[in-house]
Amino acid sequence: MTEPLLEVKGLQAWYGESHVLHGVDLTVHKGETVTLLGRNGAGKTTTLKSIIGVIRKRQGQISLKGTNILPLPLHHVAKRGLGYVPEERGIFASLDVHENLMLPPKVAEGGFSLDEIYTLFPNLAERRRSQGTKLSGGEQQMLAIARILRTGADVLLLDEPTEGLAPVIVQRIGDVIRALKEKGMTILLVEQNFRFARRVADRFYVMEDGHMIDSFRADELAGRMDSLHETLGL
Ligand code: ATP
Repeated sequence: MTEPLLEVKGLQAWYGESHVLHGVDLTVHKGETVTLLGRNGAGKTTTLKSIIGVIRKRQGQISLKGTNILPLPLHHVAKRGLGYVPEERGIFASLDVHENLMLPPKVAEGGFSLDEIYTLFPNLAERRRSQGTKLSGGEQQMLAIARILRTGADVLLLDEPTEGLAPVIVQRIGDVIRALKEKGMTILLVEQNFRFARRVADRFYVMEDGHMIDSFRADELAGRMDSLHETLGL
């Protein structure tokens, strides 16, 4: 197999004195969609935040495209093509869709053009003059992903993109992720919605109490269902 695009080894992280990640290992190869599973509080969000560098109190190795990004400031990490869509989405509520899409700086090569964004997200095209506050949860999520694509990121960290969304919208987000995958995007996803995760993921990791306790490919899922039922309470 080729070198992983993103490789995390022995990652530890703290909130103040509280030690939350205890040596997390994971790899994501180019073009893969990898999903982190685990119960509430297992450390999934903390893992994404530690990779992107929002959480600074970390130890271990995080290599992106062969560079150790752990000591780098956030904007240098973004320049290397790593984009993060937080659970709370982070769009500008007082701006309309179009303005939200015009604001993100192009930090890496190959950001999506507005035409490409509106082709991928036709409902954002329809809503281009709607203010952020007027958007549905699904539209906000799509806008949050679209904003990251504008920057030129080609490795996406997505935190629970389907949270709180109606099934038909979850389906749409799944279509978007598959379309991004066809374009060669590399995606690391945190997801509680197991049905959605199994539709999009090539590989899975399972976290518990700040440790990685299992990893397997999508074609090994059937054999894991019993242990997943137990670990995740499915
Ligand atoms: P969830 O789906 O609930 O977000 P998660 O697997 O993403 O779960 P994390 O949010 O990474 O879990 O939380 C891991 C641990 O860190 C939990 O014990 C949580 O209480 C703790 N934690 C999370 N955020 C903070 C914070 N800002 N300060 C202190 N502890 C935190």
